[in-house]
Amino acid sequence: MALIVQKYGGTSVGNPDRIKNVATRVKQYRDKGDQVVVVVSAMSGVTDGLIKMAKEIMPLPSEREMDMLLATGEQTTIALTAIALHALNIEATSLTGAQAGIVTDGVHTKAKIQNITPKAVHDLLDAGKVVIVAGFQGQTSEGHITTLGRGGSDLTAIALAAALKADLCQIYTDVDGVYTADPRIVPTAKKLPEISYDEMLELASLGAKVMQSRSVEFAKKFGVVFEVRSSLNDNPGTIVKEETPSMEGVVIRGVSLDKNQAKVTLVGVPDKPGVASLVFQSIAEANINVDMIVQNISHGSGTPATDLSFTVDKPELLKARKVIEGLKSTIGYREVIANEGIGKLSIVGVGMRSHPGVAAKMFDTLAKNGVNIDMISTSEIKISVVVDLAKGESAMKAVHAAFLG
Ligand code: ASP
Ligand code: MG
Repeated sequence: MALIVQKYGGTSVGNPDRIKNVATRVKQYRDKGDQVVVVVSAMSGVTDGLIKMAKEIMPLPSEREMDMLLATGEQTTIALTAIALHALNIEATSLTGAQAGIVTDGVHTKAKIQNITPKAVHDLLDAGKVVIVAGFQGQTSEGHITTLGRGGSDLTAIALAAALKADLCQIYTDVDGVYTADPRIVPTAKKLPEISYDEMLELASLGAKVMQSRSVEFAKKFGVVFEVRSSLNDNPGTIVKEETPSMEGVVIRGVSLDKNQAKVTLVGVPDKPGVASLVFQSIAEANINVDMIVQNISHGSGTPATDLSFTVDKPELLKARKVIEGLKSTIGYREVIANEGIGKLSIVGVGMRSHPGVAAKMFDTLAKNGVNIDMISTSEIKISVVVDLAKGESAMKAVHAAFLG
């Protein structure tokens, strides 16, 4: 008998039939005598639909009210999943994030989990019930409903697996596991039997939308081994765990393309101390994550001026632009340009540490395919370039072919 945490994403609970399938799978584990905690996302498209409605009313709605609104998506699916289990004569109880004891800080729309007191979950499991927990949501210690950032149901599952000391954590999604690239874009992509937390983290934060990156960070920190697998079949998935020596034998584990980035450029910024600090402090105070930063060489006579570019997630572009416009009189730049037509293409692999020439091969491949590189950033196990969005997919295919066949 094992304690299993299973998380089902939006497509896996996308309609009543899919929810019945989830219940059937949960029943298989229950019939073996396992204890099961199920974490569910909102039905696919629901969260986006709720956001769209709010933005039709006002472009920058209150973040507290957005949390109140978005939490309803998951609340729908926990109840439907419990009902689907009842229909199979399985005892099941649904809990909101707050009822499951998930306490967060007060940063609405991207709250961090502070602690979990899963007493209610334990009590229900002890009473022989399947417990269904709403993903993506929690509650502050003052009782305000919060959400954990887009894709946050993964975090709920991993954090619950850690808090409950679960024997197994399974992340069910609409793909068979983690691939060397998104198979919808690169048909030759292959499923990976295993991947290290760090590689998965890079891939997740690079737009390989298999999992939310914060949840992988959390899993790494607490040593939660988990499996990413499909809810539509019984194929084994990809195990995500600590790096092992044999993993370095492969140069590149995967290629990803993030189409959800936007670039902000401040043109004609005075090149003097304190400017970058002011820009990025203000951006940080608005809780906007910045990814790549590039500053050009200064030009012009007199007070030298430079251009400063950085990338943010597309949904944050409006907010970032507002912050920068608010600094115009203090900094005195010439203009601000926002560009949504970019893609970030990345290659990832712990093997990069021991194989030289990886960057050269990537850039050469892009050059041969007529793809211009706009920005570059690297880490020990990753190389990312910003390219024209229109060329993103063909660039991805070429780079995958060069490294992974
Ligand atoms: N429903 C939320 C979202 O769409 C959380 C999740 O799916 O994990 O972002
Ligand atoms: Mg989702």
